[in-house]
Amino acid sequence: IIEFKHVTKIFDGVTVIEDENFYVRKGEFLTILGPSGCGKSTTLRMIAGFETPTSGDILLEGKDIVTMPAYKRPINTKDGTPVLKINKTKIKYLKKQIARLSKDTIMDQNEKEERIKKFEGIIEELKNTPEQAYKYRRSIDTLSGGQQQRVAIARAIVLQPKILLLDEPLGALDLKMRKDMQLELKEMHRKLGITFIYVTHDQEEALTMSDTVMVMSDGVIQQIGSPTDIYNEPKNAFVADFIGDSN
Ligand code: ATP
Ligand code: MG
Repeated sequence: IIEFKHVTKIFDGVTVIEDENFYVRKGEFLTILGPSGCGKSTTLRMIAGFETPTSGDILLEGKDIVTMPAYKRPINTKDGTPVLKINKTKIKYLKKQIARLSKDTIMDQNEKEERIKKFEGIIEELKNTPEQAYKYRRSIDTLSGGQQQRVAIARAIVLQPKILLLDEPLGALDLKMRKDMQLELKEMHRKLGITFIYVTHDQEEALTMSDTVMVMSDGVIQQIGSPTDIYNEPKNAFVADFIGDSN
């Protein structure tokens, strides 16, 4: 569904992505793993269309993403509200937005209502205590980082994009909530069949959650493979070190 061909990204004369080649199958759960500054977010931002490669091609279902109209990209940014920037809005507004975005696709009234109900369901599940229930009625920018991430994930799931791009979505959560959300996300991936591209610097998270792990360092892909392959047969010293580093 996504293919990178000789993608390079240079910021102010500094090469941050060098000759990146990989592909993601439809429905696959790919995790991009690597230390801070290795180019994980830049890779994801190029898929979303927030950054343009300096050279090389990114194909979405065989078509060049750079020349593609914005509304056809994995993240629909035409209303100026990319998926992960949902602060300063209210849940109530999000519901309207979902209805509006749904209108742009071929979808009957029933399906639209079903999606809104599902969104409310996910939000409902997120409220564990009456106190939190009250919180979710507030403006989203007054929620904690972890709560904001949960709302963002709920919205992304309901919009049912072809590809869900997740940049360290569990970073702000405490260990318990992190473990719970790992299971929840994995379950969502299994149920929905959406392609997940997931960024983390946590080796254990990458190995337990994904179908495929892509290890990066200094803008270069070091290895791509199943968690078992990466764990049992690291291709070089960097991968061996980084994977062995957990705990
Ligand atoms: P982290 O785990 O800390 O989030 P990362 O792997 O996501 O790291 P990136 O954000 O992709 O790393 O950054 C890769 C390199 O590109 C870094 O050295 C960063 O400073 C640089 N970089 C990213 N965005 C820009 C930009 N807009 N202008 C200049 N340099 C940038
Ligand atoms: Mg990053």
